[in-house]
Amino acid sequence: MELAHRVKTLSPSSTLAITAKAKELKQQGHDVIGLGAGEPDFNTPDYILEAAKKAMDDGMTKYTPAGGIVELKKAIAAKFTDDNELSYANDQIIVTTGAKHALYTLFQVILNKGDEVIVPSPYWVSYPEQIKLAEGSAVFVQASEKNHFKITPNELEEAITDKTKAVVINSPSNPTGMMYNKDELEKIGEVCLKHNILIISDEIYEKLIYTEKPHTSIASLSNELKEQTVIINGVSKSHAMTGWRIGYAAGSKEIIKAMTNLASHSTSNPTSIAQYAALAAYSTEEDTTLELKQVFADRLDVFYDLINDIPGISCVKPEGAFYLFPNVKEAATKNGFTSVDEWVTALLEEEKVALVPGSGFGSPDNARLSYALSLEELTEAAKRIKRFVVNNQ
Ligand code: PLP
Repeated sequence: MELAHRVKTLSPSSTLAITAKAKELKQQGHDVIGLGAGEPDFNTPDYILEAAKKAMDDGMTKYTPAGGIVELKKAIAAKFTDDNELSYANDQIIVTTGAKHALYTLFQVILNKGDEVIVPSPYWVSYPEQIKLAEGSAVFVQASEKNHFKITPNELEEAITDKTKAVVINSPSNPTGMMYNKDELEKIGEVCLKHNILIISDEIYEKLIYTEKPHTSIASLSNELKEQTVIINGVSKSHAMTGWRIGYAAGSKEIIKAMTNLASHSTSNPTSIAQYAALAAYSTEEDTTLELKQVFADRLDVFYDLINDIPGISCVKPEGAFYLFPNVKEAATKNGFTSVDEWVTALLEEEKVALVPGSGFGSPDNARLSYALSLEELTEAAKRIKRFVVNNQ
């Protein structure tokens, strides 16, 4: 059967592909260290598990409103007030099947064929594919490593055409871990307001920041910017809840209503039990995200030094998320490879360490290393990478 054009040009997620390859090698009995994971390596906290069990026992196993249960929307609104000084009504929030589906639904409701979305590069792998699926076109703006992988207001303005509909800002970023500060966001916001461009602010790593620099939501900078922004967030990374699939979007009533209509015909609703679990995550006094954050901060310090110490590998120190995004081009070249992709494959085969090549993130000289692993595993991984680099020169 002939498949639809829209899926023929779709690239499979490179992060999932490397994780699958690493799993396969593991199943064959190899001692593989997978640095490809995009999820915390902790289990979901007990109080959240208990809330889900209770929801099941209480019979919360039926369809819910398409945009999510009211209690959860209220808890999300309270989170916005407490963390971001933002006030949203219930009809400005939609709960979705993970933040990924919030983004998917958003692109579907805002884009017409040929509309452009500016995507700063390096980018998270799903943005361009989701834009393509909505018949839009991703316009990449290359952020330099020198500027810590952040685009400047000028670079943004130069990429704007009469077809530009939106820009994606992901801070802290996957894959680079970099963050925009308030001043930078203000200037980017000015450009967006001037050209009437929607800002899609993906804040999924908001809780995982390892410097004193606070997270700023661009929507909180003015009323106009709030009107012009859709925030994407969720509990996957903050509460080790990737498998539960609960994310959300907050923005204008018009956009949220359209997203909710679309959800009513696609997912019907995010899983009822998972919504009660997320409600517990946002309702407790117990801030388990702090514990998670401390563990990641300690790992970052150790792993960053070990990786940066490898000849031919250089890395800007990330400020958030749980990835290093070093430039490995020199090491790959010295090892006799013409591309980082080939180098990554050889490293997996020879030393059984799985990294994600940067090409999938729009940055072919880099590789992404997740530090959602124990310190012992990270130390062993760095040792193996170093051995590979040094032995093959
Ligand atoms: N946005 C970014 C930048 C991500 O890295 C991810 C997950 O990897 C998501 C969104 C999607 O998260 P969720 O698990 O809530 O779908």
